[in-house]
Amino acid sequence: MNLEARLGDVTNSDNKIILPESQLPQHWYNIVAELPFDVPKPLHPIEDRAVEINDFDWLWPRECLRIELQEEEYGTDAWIAIPEFISDVYRRYRPSPLVRARSLEKHLGTPAEIYFKREDLNPAGSHKFNTALVQAYYATQEEDSQIHCMVTDTGAGQWGAALAMACETLGLACSVFMIRKSYDEKPYRRYMMRMAGADVYSSPSELTATGRQVLRDDPDNSGSLGIGMSEAIEFVKESPGRRLALGCMSYYAVLHQSIIGLETKLQLEQIDRSPDLMVGCVGGGSNFTGFIAPFVRDKIEGSPIEFRAIEPESIPTLSEGEYRYDWADFSELTPRILMYTLGHRFVPPPVHSGGLRYHGKTPVLSALVKNEVVGTRTFSQREVFDAGRLFLKTEGVLAAPESAHAVRGAIDAARDASKTGQNQVIVLCLSGHGYLDLKGFSDVLDLDTPN
Ligand SMILES: *Cc1c(COP(=O)(O)O)cnc(C)c1O
Repeated sequence: MNLEARLGDVTNSDNKIILPESQLPQHWYNIVAELPFDVPKPLHPIEDRAVEINDFDWLWPRECLRIELQEEEYGTDAWIAIPEFISDVYRRYRPSPLVRARSLEKHLGTPAEIYFKREDLNPAGSHKFNTALVQAYYATQEEDSQIHCMVTDTGAGQWGAALAMACETLGLACSVFMIRKSYDEKPYRRYMMRMAGADVYSSPSELTATGRQVLRDDPDNSGSLGIGMSEAIEFVKESPGRRLALGCMSYYAVLHQSIIGLETKLQLEQIDRSPDLMVGCVGGGSNFTGFIAPFVRDKIEGSPIEFRAIEPESIPTLSEGEYRYDWADFSELTPRILMYTLGHRFVPPPVHSGGLRYHGKTPVLSALVKNEVVGTRTFSQREVFDAGRLFLKTEGVLAAPESAHAVRGAIDAARDASKTGQNQVIVLCLSGHGYLDLKGFSDVLDLDTPN
């Protein structure tokens, strides 16, 4: 058997492009300071005015609000220094490798080069830890604060697991309202959160008025992200020592995730490549926007690079949603933001990519799509999970269902390149691993049936 044919051409250069720890970026890239168009700031949830910090400093860490409202340096400086403590923790798992997907290329018979940036190798298994850590850190740095606990809601549990690990790292308590359906059906991330020391509650819970009301009306209610977020907000309101942490739709998460793109840029420079296409999956938009952010100015200045955001066919926010002000939560407690949205009352279908079930996308990504800097594509769940299986078989990496959307996007582009014979460089962001999502893969790919 010709085994070389299965591996691809491995003789001409390395598979893994590794940055030494000494080259870990020292700054995040603050893309809003350099865009040729404004990214509008959030509005008050009800009143007709901009949000001010003291409207919400009981709810969010102040530094998160300063970033979100583009205050001072966050409105003007392209480079924001990464605190030393954060760099020290990042160095546990960063810089992360950029890997050439040679076996996948070989399998596809494509002239394209495919690279994937690995965000699955950190303590919680996805890019979410990159920002959870910083949000918890900000909470510990507030003057005169007695903040001792971070609170959040979680669906499938990736965000909860990331925050639990972050709080443990910072010596903070962590309370997670986990949607009852996932709490019951997906126990492994719940176990992981508890192992890291977090309190995990099934939502709707008896802990809050919202939860009690929902349970009174419907004792079997299986929960939703809307109810979970309302419970989390109420739980924060009860005590001055608590603050909310949010994963995806905020700009501060995008800022922190720019570390992904900054490393990727250095790695591609190291092998003398520049990307023709960058692909990622979008839930709230944080991993993809952080991944492309440092390349956006090149594009605006005329370089022919293409950015493609991939969504599930059943949640086509960027592809088919409206561009308008909307709330991030079901109960209209959070600021209104200008974004692509399917409406804050949109109930997403029960797809297995829990991290992509958001009705809206972060304002900066929405503005990039609106201004035609970023393009979009959708794929069906079956197309995506087949791509996840092919990626496991060829590259030996089990992508999260969310990340398999990016893999699918890259495979499609590589197939197009085969047709045109173009020697493209395609780079995808592998936002997380799928080891705790195998049940979802099984449901779609029917893995209970012997081959
Ligand atoms: C949460 C999640 C996403 C979606 O969130 P973004 O804010 O769009 O990055 C994507 N991939 C994984 C693995 C996730 O856990």
